[in-house]
Amino acid sequence: MSQDIPYGPDRKPWKETLSPLAINADGTPMVTPPSQDPAEVYSYPDLERGITPSNYQVPTIGFTADHARKAQDETSAYVNKQSLNHLGYQCSIGNDHSQVTRYLHTLLNNIGDPYVPGHFTINSKWMERNVLDYYASLWNAKWPHNDEDPETYWGYVCTMGSSEGNLYAVWNGRDYLQGKFMMTDVTRKVPTTTYVQAKLTADKPNAFTPVAFYSEDSHYSFTKCMAVLDVKSFYRLGTELYPGQCPLGGDWPTEVPSEGGDAGPGSIDVDKLYKLVEFFVSKGYPALILLNFGTTFKGAYDDVKRAGEMLLPMLRKHEMDERWIQVVDPNKPDDPKWIKRNGFWIHVDGALGSTYVPFMKMAFNKGRTAIKPPPDFDFRLPFVHSICGSGHKWPGAPWPLGIFMTKTGLQLLPPTNPDYVGSPDTTFAGSRNGLSSLVWWSFLTQYSYEAQIDRVVYSLELVKHTYQELQKVQTDIGQDIWINYTPLSLSLWFKKPNDDIVHKYTLSPESLFVDGEQRNFVHMFVMSNVAKETIDSLMQALREPNAFTTAEKRDKKWVRRARKAGVESRITDLHDGMILGKADQGLKNGVQPLFNWPMAGRGFK
Ligand SMILES: *Cc1c(COP(=O)(O)O)cnc(C)c1O
Repeated sequence: MSQDIPYGPDRKPWKETLSPLAINADGTPMVTPPSQDPAEVYSYPDLERGITPSNYQVPTIGFTADHARKAQDETSAYVNKQSLNHLGYQCSIGNDHSQVTRYLHTLLNNIGDPYVPGHFTINSKWMERNVLDYYASLWNAKWPHNDEDPETYWGYVCTMGSSEGNLYAVWNGRDYLQGKFMMTDVTRKVPTTTYVQAKLTADKPNAFTPVAFYSEDSHYSFTKCMAVLDVKSFYRLGTELYPGQCPLGGDWPTEVPSEGGDAGPGSIDVDKLYKLVEFFVSKGYPALILLNFGTTFKGAYDDVKRAGEMLLPMLRKHEMDERWIQVVDPNKPDDPKWIKRNGFWIHVDGALGSTYVPFMKMAFNKGRTAIKPPPDFDFRLPFVHSICGSGHKWPGAPWPLGIFMTKTGLQLLPPTNPDYVGSPDTTFAGSRNGLSSLVWWSFLTQYSYEAQIDRVVYSLELVKHTYQELQKVQTDIGQDIWINYTPLSLSLWFKKPNDDIVHKYTLSPESLFVDGEQRNFVHMFVMSNVAKETIDSLMQALREPNAFTTAEKRDKKWVRRARKAGVESRITDLHDGMILGKADQGLKNGVQPLFNWPMAGRGFK
């Protein structure tokens, strides 16, 4: 640690930038000095181009107005440049969100349930409820939300994007399948809420152990959900309790295989899903099935309709489509209740697809596009329990935000009984960003269905155009650039070009295994705000002589983590005693495998 390390925009020794208020009588600082020059440690000239790290260091004697302006100008120039050419990720950039400036002097906090006004009066819940109703209608749920009607939807606008939507879904689904209840007894003088667990019977020891299933193309947030909520995936339970018995043969795969593996379109292999689910359901485990509608890398749609229609008869055979479970209120132990619940939960992670595919369908039905939409995914399907979407992806928003939706009757409500009223287990976050509902609502009021359909048709046509242009580039440069496209999606992926191009267009790098070989790809999404000129300029860049000469650099973080764990494979250690890795390696060391933490194939970088 040294007080002489240069610090701040003026690069003065750190001690000279320290506020005198933080210096003891003996001259020693009351706060820690840097141990290394942070400007060197945080120097990323390849990625944060044009950003000078020292311009952002905060001297505690104060930051001058000049320095502040310089830093803001540098950041703003960088952000504007990158926004202009952005192609890599599935977010719409360029909507007009200027209406939020009217509210930046205050705090809009939609804390708590959207349908209960609550005591924090500065909020935008009236806008939130209309955003939710809009999507409930679009997703064919019964609306408006009504606490008394279990068939109506319930939902909320998330503080995070679909990561929170997924987390909430897994939480709600887990507790539902574990036979948990929230009970509020309002007959008491001071109403009390109790969290209770249904009774397990000796003949069905697995009845309240949900097993999660999701494909290898799923978003990495599912892995996080398993960790945070301690839900076991079929891989974890399979390797723990049923080694060598995988119904697909061989070792248990870490996730449900996708059709055609890495080289395929990215949708879940429904037949394999069926076999895996059947294995566990036949042993009495309830199934938590997490499907995708618009995957992160390939933009693929799982066939939710076919999956549900195939699984239902099998679930019925094992009495898991519906089952009776016994609930005992601790306050009334002699009065058990029997209630009916599904023995499965199907969540649709529609981070990207759920918000625009309904418009694809309208466009197709009205002859505005010849592109047929993917099969239905929404609440029209009686087996769908929850859906989430990310607002910054399809509609577009100035920060991450999302939506989670389920049915009122699937919340953790007590059995129907006039003595009780449900205490809806509401949002994941406490304080929630009221501006999120405000920008979402504003978008919906600016874009009618007609306008949204125009946006979808524009994107679908531009994807087709981009695909054709990439083919021309490939022919012109005489080199296979591995062009891929999932039908109906907005995503294209091809061979990773050089770092300058990747950075200029914010392309998203990812490696996939094709024909037994690791190949470096980038993906791009053609969202409705992408200008044709940006595509044309990318095509021009890809024709340059050195466009595809790239020196392979491995992700620093990956290598660092792997080294720390002592192996250069997919093994990493997170915290004490928790080794996540391949099952065989874990088992050899006598360590229980928990789950696979994906390092590739998930749009991590
Ligand atoms: C982006 C994405 C998420 C997570 O959304 P965030 O908004 O980043 O939290 C989840 N699932 C899929 C399929 C995604 O593409």
